[in-house]
Amino acid sequence: MIDARASKIEDPVAKLRFLKNTEKRVGQVETVLGRPQYWWLRNKKFWLALGCLLMIPTLSLFRSSAPPISVSDGAMNLVAGRGSKPFREGPLEKVWLIDSKNGVETWSNGLHIETRFSTTNRPRDYFAWNRNQPTSSLVQLADKQAAGIVFHTTESTLEELEEQKMRRLKLLGESLLQYVSKEKAYHYVIDRFGRVFRIVKETDAANHAGKSTWADDKWAYIGLNDSFLAVSFETQTRPGDEAPIISQAQIDSGRTLTRMLRSRYNIPAANCVTHAQVSINPSNFQIGYHTDWAGNFPFEAMGLPDNYLQPLASLNLFGFNYDGTFFAATGARMWKGVVSSEDLLREQARENSISVAQLRTQLRNHYRRLSALLPENNRSSGGNPNSNSSTAQEVNP
Ligand SMILES: [Zn+2]
Repeated sequence: MIDARASKIEDPVAKLRFLKNTEKRVGQVETVLGRPQYWWLRNKKFWLALGCLLMIPTLSLFRSSAPPISVSDGAMNLVAGRGSKPFREGPLEKVWLIDSKNGVETWSNGLHIETRFSTTNRPRDYFAWNRNQPTSSLVQLADKQAAGIVFHTTESTLEELEEQKMRRLKLLGESLLQYVSKEKAYHYVIDRFGRVFRIVKETDAANHAGKSTWADDKWAYIGLNDSFLAVSFETQTRPGDEAPIISQAQIDSGRTLTRMLRSRYNIPAANCVTHAQVSINPSNFQIGYHTDWAGNFPFEAMGLPDNYLQPLASLNLFGFNYDGTFFAATGARMWKGVVSSEDLLREQARENSISVAQLRTQLRNHYRRLSALLPENNRSSGGNPNSNSSTAQEVNP
């Protein structure tokens, strides 16, 4: 029944929306996605074709929006406080440091952190916008603890994980660690063997996210170098739904590291996201300037909910958009969040009796006003926050 109805929908995005709505009603989409007849959701050519389709002119989804009505910025209701689905979380596991000797920390959940590449950077210092108070400005938060985690891939040169290639594997790993330490690129790197290395200390900012934004139920964060921790896996991104090369040892270490960081800083699961979900390009208001972990980050294996389902703050709070390149780089999992964002945007436009295009313009103006207040615009050292380079694309030592 679902198959028959979906097969009659020609517009692929409308088809995805139909499946998403079906999921709400009968909870069957996860099962359905695994069926052969839904090949198009896992097929790269499908997403490429979809990308091309949507470049004219970006989204046909919005054509049915309310007719344009002139509304000033001041009359706009930003619909703050909506957009994030609350996750049902149990209490965070308590994790504590057992000891630190010979350059290795041992933590109570089995995590080991090597510290020989550790470095410092400027102290963490960030501002955020209270989305529950739409007319408010940026607020400098007194609590400077990390608000979330951004997962990256190093995009560095890889070698096959084979015993006879150990010399080359170790050489590549050492070279990578030296480079990211020099560039203060991440807080943590998990190498091919699952070893965890602290790079920038957790109290400091790292040059990892470039231009970026994310939001939880209360705060919208702009510029995640200061507000979020960076955990990078030594691997390379693959297009669409293809999973990057990642070893079980890396997954195991990623899980224990995530648990330690969440425990230490009380980080909500919803704020543990991938670079592709937060990366933006304000010069053209497109999302996905960086697309690492766009398709298949193993959220569940990290002890997290599937955060690809979450709406993107860049889309529904700040009016960013996307193009065919982004379509080609991402997979079906991330697109559920994009569709959710669009639903929220359309709802906001309807409630304000304006078109989606008008709402998007207003949201962009709001973003410009907020980002102009960021102190990073006057910063002269400690990386280049005005650049979208989050330490090479990603790392190419
Ligand atoms: Zn990244």
